[in-house]
Amino acid sequence: MTHTLLRFQKLCTQLSRKFSLSAATMAPTVHKYDYLVLGAGSGGIASVRRAAEFGVNCAVIERGALGGTCVNVGCVPKKVMFNTAMLSEQLHDHADYGFSTSMEMFDWSVIKKARDAYVKRLNGIYGNNLDKSKVEAIRGEARFIDEKLVEVNGEKYTADHILIAVGGHPTIPNIPGAEHAITSDGFFELENLPKKAVVIGAGYIAVELAGILNALGSETHALIRKDQVLRTFDETVSQLLTQEMVSAGIHLHTQTQVSEIAKESSGLLTLSTSKGVIDNVDCVIYAVGREPNTKYLGLDKTGVAMDSRGHVIVDDYQNTNISGIYAVGDVIGKALLTPVAIAAGRRLSHRLFNNESDLKLSYDNIATVVFSHPLVGTVGLTEAEARAKYGADRIKLYTSVFNPMYHAVTQRKVKALSKLVCLLPDEKVLGIHTMGPGCDEAMQGFAVAVKMGATKKDLDQTVAIHPTSAEELVTLR
Ligand code: FAD
Ligand code: NDP
Repeated sequence: MTHTLLRFQKLCTQLSRKFSLSAATMAPTVHKYDYLVLGAGSGGIASVRRAAEFGVNCAVIERGALGGTCVNVGCVPKKVMFNTAMLSEQLHDHADYGFSTSMEMFDWSVIKKARDAYVKRLNGIYGNNLDKSKVEAIRGEARFIDEKLVEVNGEKYTADHILIAVGGHPTIPNIPGAEHAITSDGFFELENLPKKAVVIGAGYIAVELAGILNALGSETHALIRKDQVLRTFDETVSQLLTQEMVSAGIHLHTQTQVSEIAKESSGLLTLSTSKGVIDNVDCVIYAVGREPNTKYLGLDKTGVAMDSRGHVIVDDYQNTNISGIYAVGDVIGKALLTPVAIAAGRRLSHRLFNNESDLKLSYDNIATVVFSHPLVGTVGLTEAEARAKYGADRIKLYTSVFNPMYHAVTQRKVKALSKLVCLLPDEKVLGIHTMGPGCDEAMQGFAVAVKMGATKKDLDQTVAIHPTSAEELVTLR
């Protein structure tokens, strides 16, 4: 009996040891950092690397390729394709300038291969830079499981400061046959130049992709719901770009909505629209806006407040409503641009980790360029915004629509625009709106002037650089 009791006691001890051992082994370790960043895109990488410079113990979590939207499926591959399209346009002008050359030999696969290789190089550079900054890169999908607790592949992470920089993704309306359409993400996967493409949407991405496809020789159809593209831009820009897209050969379908996309036995697509049928299409691209990547992020577990579209709500300092949790970039749904995400992310790190307690990003007068054909460059208020804000009688406009000198000798004609929106009485420049060659590069400098509060007189007192298109802005009367 005693023997049995002893054996039983021994067994209990063994079991309890085994249990506590396995409990200890399986105990969820929580990895702790000073700063944990969700998303290694423009905003996340900029913020985490800046924080690391201040000696902070940091990690960044990324589920996809390093660099985010801009590097992989945004600005970078887009600009390569824009450059390709510019070369194509200029080839058409070569004969006018006395060269004999032909456009027939364009091979999409060459530039696709070079572009993909460039993006891959950039992914590597981003990885190396994180290593050099001593930032730990955690690979996988992040999800909040508690207020300050994040899970990735079953591992748990926490930090005093957590940044949400998860960006967004393109949307496709839920219509029959929507699965046959692609978005800008799919555009960068195309192995061939489509023969006949339909681009749906009227914003940045739609006009950029339609311009590229058209310049490279696709029969390009642009479908818009209203009468003009870029309707949130200055009205003169919107009107003139719409005209120029048509004169460049894009088939513009205004007041047109798609109700169905059907795949024919030939593999080609037929679109039913409010204005009739468009058939024999080999590529349909939706570019109708983007949604934040918050749906599966577990924000309900943190209590972080979102708006009705799922954007994280932040104050002027990028603080969410939960102490120690911040958000920057596309996920907040404000000025969806790479330099904005970078600037907000860096300023946040300075504020949190370098005692610059008042530092924040000003979202006013952010310059932007649309890589359309022709280019659009803009900063500040549109004519309509200025009138609404200050009253029509206080606004003075200076507008010039002109033929850039490059096109003086070409058969292909493209118009350019310089427009100033000024506030009376001292004619402070509230907005500058430009279109045409070189306006992308010129706008960066003019944005400094607007940011500094330049007046029309300041522009007048600046001696022009001749012959350029940008000189129009300092000689407007
Ligand atoms: P992103 O760069 O999108 O980074 C977010 C990252 O978070 C991604 O890498 C994503 O994989 C990751 N992520 C998401 N969810 C999770 C999760 N749960 N766990 C882990 N990781 C996650 N802007 C310009 O200024 N100039 C341009 O010319 C320009 N062209 C563009 C062209 C196109 C076609 C597109 C689509 C966008 C373009 N933009 C341009 C906009 C620009 O790309 C974005 O504004 C910018 O990338 C936003 O940066 P972000 O850091 O907020 O998000
Ligand atoms: P945008 O918000 O620029 O434009 C989308 C447009 O599509 C809307 O303005 C709307 O125009 C139209 N639209 C919306 N819903 C529908 C629908 N159901 N059917 C048809 N048309 C519709 O979104 P994008 O996707 O073009 O780009 C997202 C953001 O990415 C941009 O706002 C920009 O911040 C950034 N970006 C920046 C670039 C740059 O800096 N060069 C380049 C590319 C993107 P309407 O109301 O007139 O119909």
